[in-house]
Amino acid sequence: MRLASIAVLGGGPGGLYAARLLKLGHPDAQVDVYEQGVPDKTFGFGVGLATRTQRNLHGADSASFQAIADAAYPYEMSMQVDGHVALLPHGNLVAIARTTLLAVLRASAEQAGIRLHFGARRDVRAIDADLIVAADGAGSGTRETFAASFCPVIKTGAGLYLWCGTDFALPTALFTSVTTEHGTFVAHAYPYAPERSTFLVETDEITWRNAGFDITTEQVQPADSDEASLRYLERAFARALDGHRLIGNRTRWLRFRTVKCGSWHRGNIVLLGDAAHTAHYSIGSGTKLAMEDVIALDIAVHEAADLEGALADCEARRRPAVAHLQEVAHRSEMWWESFPERLHMPVAQLMLAYLTRAGKIDIEQVARNAPALARRSLADFAGVEARVVPESDLTEWILGQPVTHEGVTHPRRTAHDELRDAATTETLDIDYESAWGPQADALVDAPPDANTLWLTGSPDRAALRRRRVARARH
Ligand SMILES: Cc1cc2nc3c(=O)[nH]c(=O)nc-3n(C[C@H](O)[C@H](O)[C@H](O)COP(=O)(O)OP(=O)(O)OC[C@H]3O[C@@H](n4cnc5c(N)ncnc54)[C@H](O)[C@@H]3O)c2cc1C
Repeated sequence: MRLASIAVLGGGPGGLYAARLLKLGHPDAQVDVYEQGVPDKTFGFGVGLATRTQRNLHGADSASFQAIADAAYPYEMSMQVDGHVALLPHGNLVAIARTTLLAVLRASAEQAGIRLHFGARRDVRAIDADLIVAADGAGSGTRETFAASFCPVIKTGAGLYLWCGTDFALPTALFTSVTTEHGTFVAHAYPYAPERSTFLVETDEITWRNAGFDITTEQVQPADSDEASLRYLERAFARALDGHRLIGNRTRWLRFRTVKCGSWHRGNIVLLGDAAHTAHYSIGSGTKLAMEDVIALDIAVHEAADLEGALADCEARRRPAVAHLQEVAHRSEMWWESFPERLHMPVAQLMLAYLTRAGKIDIEQVARNAPALARRSLADFAGVEARVVPESDLTEWILGQPVTHEGVTHPRRTAHDELRDAATTETLDIDYESAWGPQADALVDAPPDANTLWLTGSPDRAALRRRRVARARH
């Protein structure tokens, strides 16, 4: 297929990378990127890139990947609870400042002969090109303009988060929490440069209001940061920050918006990256998704006979992967929103819960990569010495351990069919959106009057996880 002109709306990672790959595939095409901001004035701090993403970027365009890799910062992961620190198993993790990533992608785009236009907001309806790539971010104007075609569904998370940075490189990526007189705050932080770390703080609505942050959020101007919140969090996380400051960059409390769309293309316009879909930041995948969309678009445009076929093919290729990641991200979001409920757990146990939170990694995988951590955490779950934990078949073993709940000891953690069929058991068909949502809360707060509740529903993995109302009442 021949494309004479390609226009890209948005100069974020998705837009710049799309311009580069499409220009390499269509050297004769005129490629223009329209970005409302000006270079180096972008929001944000660091962006993490996991091993597989690095592989995908390398496979698609080794030159731009090498430039990214040269500017990236490798790091380890750890979790800290009450001064106890445990290292997490992981692949080859790197992070890069968002400003650096964009500078590298801008330079790669320019080298490929792309025209970059900064400083003016554009309306997609005023752009004329054979192919228009709308990479205009989570608040995409293109998506809203053609909402009837793209059919967006946007869900706002219950919790609040604040994205800021620090002026030193943490020794490892860190997950930690603090409880103040107002409630619990959780931080995810990771280094991305020799003197910089991303520091992301989450809390629940009640804590946020108790601390008066509903008021500071209202008062802060769009171009400013919520300094009152930053100073408060600096004090609260003084130990993790080792006396360093928190730095804002248009930093304010926000609620995460999960974007899904019924369609990602309309005529010659294709949505990609955050404009088409977002995934909760706790799995650190927004940039990866945007750049992997670009790789799929580039392949589809190369292979298909016409543009309509290419855009349909690109969407068909990407839908399953994006849906899977959004599901994983949703479970991770639920886990973090309910994090304060697990604060009583010892650090190793909490770490295992964290690693297996989204269902991507199971206990056996953790045991293969970090046997000591798996043994310690399973010993904590079972309330036994670590030396008692066997070498293999750990899932079976932990399910076979007794558990005491509200004064009643059960000989194992799985129930037998006879229990399901007992006269005192009530069966409930559950299809909740979340095991931590209002419907699940209502069930936990006022369960039906029966000795045993047997929760059933769809056997698929996602539904099974949403049914984990077994968190119940401790
Ligand atoms: C708190 C937080 C933490 C995150 N952490 C990570 C992480 O660790 N790893 C990760 O991979 N991702 C992370 N992300 C997500 C990541 O920032 C985004 O997913 C990623 O930037 C998406 O890239 P994009 O190109 O689709 O959109 P964006 O980066 O949002 O770029 C869109 C661009 O379009 C421009 N634009 C919009 N409208 C117009 C217009 N009408 N005219 C001209 N220009 C326009 C905007 O100015 C912007 O530059 C995080 C996000 C949040 C909120």
